[in-house]
Amino acid sequence: MTKITPQPGIMDISLYQGGAAHVDGVENVIKLSSNENPLGPSPKAAEAVRNSASEIHRYPSTDHAKLRAAIGEAMGLDPERIICGVGSDEIITFLCQAYAGPGDEVVHTEHGFAMYRISALAAGATPVEVGERDRVTDVDALLAGCTDRTKLVFIANPNNPTGTMIGASEVARLADGLPPQALLVLDGAYAEFVDGFDGGASIVSARDNVVMTRTFSKLYGLGGLRVGWGYGPRDIIDVLNRVRGPFNLSGTALAAAEAAIRDTEYVEHCRAQNARWRTWLAEALAELGVPSDTSCANFILARFASRAEAEACDDYLKSQGLIVRRVAGYNLPNALRITVGNEIACRRVAAAVAAFKNGAS
Ligand SMILES: *Cc1c(COP(=O)(O)O)cnc(C)c1O
Repeated sequence: MTKITPQPGIMDISLYQGGAAHVDGVENVIKLSSNENPLGPSPKAAEAVRNSASEIHRYPSTDHAKLRAAIGEAMGLDPERIICGVGSDEIITFLCQAYAGPGDEVVHTEHGFAMYRISALAAGATPVEVGERDRVTDVDALLAGCTDRTKLVFIANPNNPTGTMIGASEVARLADGLPPQALLVLDGAYAEFVDGFDGGASIVSARDNVVMTRTFSKLYGLGGLRVGWGYGPRDIIDVLNRVRGPFNLSGTALAAAEAAIRDTEYVEHCRAQNARWRTWLAEALAELGVPSDTSCANFILARFASRAEAEACDDYLKSQGLIVRRVAGYNLPNALRITVGNEIACRRVAAAVAAFKNGAS
């Protein structure tokens, strides 16, 4: 038998299941399984990608100064306290790598994002899952789940796949109640979809034990380029920069992200379209007997009577060229997560669910 074995924890990782993109034999498919922007990237970001082509023989910036300055300007944050990564997934990885190892615990919620568990295991740490209250983050449960081994506590706010969020006073209560060796991570992948919400930046600014992660993959429509960032106390950003590869982001990705965040008009347009069609879709599904919690993000968690009904509806939607996400892996077997698409997509989903409810299969 081979003596070549991976580090403890690695073989406990189940491979991440991405949203499907194709259905065999079905044309005109609409992908609503990965919370992508249905309107695509800003035309200015696409132009920046084209313009970058003549420079791809050059190594990219290693300090990401221009992108950090653009983020700082757009968000009113100190660029010195920002770190950029290959998606916010990489920031999550850095956090686990830098702060959690064998014997340490990483706390996340029942319906929390899969990468928290994966990154904790990859670092050799022990993931600890705590319950939610009716699909909402439960601060008391999180605090009760902490021990003197807890090094990281992850919440997404708004959360994926539930779409729910908790208010600033609850987040502050969580931060203030943590044991002294624990760092709170506020995953703000969907923060931009909430009007006027800073993603928790002011809570980060006022404390030394909170970090926020953000992404260009959702509202900004750059999931394919892999750009995310983190904002935190200076000493923590310094630690994360030590484990970051010097050329983690390509010049193309950096240029596109900078153009995207500066195109505030396009961002506003996307935010407004999402809010409009999210309400429309949630109401249309509710009228068909498929309720959902009020979503603060760019998807709806549609709840069915049973796992069997959710799976049958998913199969029917697929046959109609509509790919949504099963979330049994998130302890939500009765539900389907449906990304808010454009008008055509939302109307197609509502019509297909109506046909399903009327007995089509
Ligand atoms: C999509 C998502 C991310 C972001 O992933 P990227 O690596 O930035 O593409 C992070 N957290 C949650 C909860 C998400 O849904």
